[in-house]
Amino acid sequence: MPVVDDVTAGAYIGVGFHRGDLNQWHSDLVGDQLAWEKRQFGHRARLYATPAQDALMDAQAHAARAMWNQLHDLWTMTPRCQQSLARMDQALRQARKEIDWYSILPAQAAQAVLKTYVQSWKNCWDGRAEEPRFKARIRSPMSLDIPQGRDLHIKRVHRRWGMVNIPKVGRVRFRWTKDLPVGRRANTDNRITGARLVKDALGWHIAFRIQTLEPRPKSHPGPEVGIDAGVNLPLALSDGNHQDHGRPPRLPDNTSDRDKWLNLDEKAKLLRLERRAAHRKSFRKPRERGSNRLKHIYDQIKQLRARATRRATDWQHQTTTTIARTYGTVVVEQLDITNMVKSARGTVEEPGRNVAQKAGLNRAIAQEAWGRTVTMLTYKTARYGGTLHKVPAPNTSLRCSDCGFITPGSREDQTTFVCKNPGCGFAANADWNAARNILHLYRTGHTVAIPAAGRAVVRRARHVKPPTAR
Ligand SMILES: [Zn+2]
Repeated sequence: MPVVDDVTAGAYIGVGFHRGDLNQWHSDLVGDQLAWEKRQFGHRARLYATPAQDALMDAQAHAARAMWNQLHDLWTMTPRCQQSLARMDQALRQARKEIDWYSILPAQAAQAVLKTYVQSWKNCWDGRAEEPRFKARIRSPMSLDIPQGRDLHIKRVHRRWGMVNIPKVGRVRFRWTKDLPVGRRANTDNRITGARLVKDALGWHIAFRIQTLEPRPKSHPGPEVGIDAGVNLPLALSDGNHQDHGRPPRLPDNTSDRDKWLNLDEKAKLLRLERRAAHRKSFRKPRERGSNRLKHIYDQIKQLRARATRRATDWQHQTTTTIARTYGTVVVEQLDITNMVKSARGTVEEPGRNVAQKAGLNRAIAQEAWGRTVTMLTYKTARYGGTLHKVPAPNTSLRCSDCGFITPGSREDQTTFVCKNPGCGFAANADWNAARNILHLYRTGHTVAIPAAGRAVVRRARHVKPPTAR
C-alpha cells in the first residue's frame, strides 16, 4: 500500500475512471486510513481501420484459428501421459518455421493462442466449460490477442480519438470514450496490460485489459431493494422505482415483431431481409454453396442484430450503474435461464403446452439477458461498496406480497396480480409484487450462497456452447 498524502490521494481518485458520484463518495475517505485494492477490468472500443488493415487483421485471425486447430489436433493425437505445454510449444515453434503463412501472425499472438488453448482445457477440467473443439471457418468468432501492453503505444490524438499500434498491422484509430491510463498517467499500478481484438458483425473491436489501484469503497449506506426480472417490466424494483426502456412501435402486422431494440424502419428492414434470404435460399439445391448475394443478405441481418444487442447492453450498463449507485443492498432471484428457455418445447414424449406463447416469452427473456444483468450488478455493487444477494426463485411471482399466502388464480395474467385470499384483495403489478417478495425473502434470511464474481461455476444445459470454449 503506497503512503500518500491527501493531495496525491485526490489525484489518484481523480484519475478519471469514474467521476461525479464516486468522487464525492471517496472524498470523505481521503481523511481516513485508505485501503487500496487492485482492480482489473476491460474497456472495449471500436476500431476504425482502413480496408487494407481490416484484411490484415482478418488474415491474422484466420492464422490464429488455424493454429488453434493444429494445436487441438496435436493435443488429441498425443497420448495422455505425453500431453504437456512444453511439447505443444515446441510443435508451435516448428510449425511457424515450416508453414510460411503463419508468419503473418506475430510471435506473441501465437503464444497467446497456445496459452488460451491450455487454459480452455483447465476450464474444462474445473467444470467451468466444455471441452475445447475445432474452430470452423464460419461461425467461429474471429479474435486475436495482443498479450503485451507495451506493444500498443496508445496515444490520444483528439478529444474523441485515440491511436493504437496493432503488431504487423500498424496504427489504427479508435473512439476515445474513457480516460485510459496511458502516457503520463501510466505507472506500475495503473496501466494497460494487453488487449484482445474481437470481430463482430459491425467490424473489429479492441478490448483493453486495464489494471488500476484504487481506494477500497466504504460500505454503501443506501437502502435495500429487491429486483424482479419481469417480462412486461424489464426490471421491477420493490420500492416502485421500476427500470423500463420504452418499447418502439410494433410493425402493423404484429406477428413479425421480433426485436424490441430496433426502431420501426429497422424492424421493417429486418423483415424484408429475412424474406429475401428465405426466397433466395429456396432456389438453392441441397449441398450447393450459398451465393455471394445470400451471404451479403445474411451479413446485413447480422449487422441489424448486432446493433440491437449493442443497444440492449448499453441500456443494461446504464441501468445497473444507477442501481449500484443508489442502493446498498440489492436482492435478486436465482434463475436458471437455460432451463427456463429450454423447457418451452418440451420433449418428444412429453411435448410442452402453449409452445408458441412460451417461445415468445423465451424470446423476451433472452432479449432482456437477465444473466448479464446479474453479472453487471455483481461487480458494480461490489465497486460501489454495496452487496448483492440471491434468493430462491420458486413462487415469488405467485405469492401475495401483502398477506403472504399463495392463493390459486391470484396471478391473473402477465401484468396483473390480484390476491384471491378473502380479506386481502391486494392488487398490483405482477412484477412489482414479485420484487417485494424477493426483498421479503432476503429480510427473512432466505439467501442462496453465491460464488465470488467471475469465479462462478456455471452448470449449463447440454448442447449449449460455453462462451469460454469458443
Ligand atoms: Zn394477499
